Amino acid sequence: MSLVPYKEIHQNEYAEEAAQRFTFIRLGSGTAELHGPCPRCGHAIRVPVVDGVYKTFWPRRRNSAGPTPPSGNVRTEDVICTCQEEHPGRQEGQFGCGAFWSLEITTS
Ligand SMILES: [Zn+2]
Ligand SMILES: [Zn+2]
Repeated sequence: MSLVPYKEIHQNEYAEEAAQRFTFIRLGSGTAELHGPCPRCGHAIRVPVVDGVYKTFWPRRRNSAGPTPPSGNVRTEDVICTCQEEHPGRQEGQFGCGAFWSLEITTS
């Protein structure tokens, strides 16, 4: 598999794929992680999120035709790729492939 070059890029398609493939893992009081493959580079990543009483997450809705989240507190969480793999062109101190996307996380 060839590595995609590092590039900061935001696409709604990333959010849709992440919402389908990521798993929400509760780690304990107040902490949780989303686990899944980065939609851009395919590497497994873990994304720490501030936990509430988690219900679900969705890609950020672009129109009213999308699924309706359950009632609760909806928070938009920006998720960035934090994979540990090398990506050409990445500066020292940066992580991942540069992909980022927005999820709506619903808590109660
Ligand atoms: Zn990667
Ligand atoms: Zn990535």
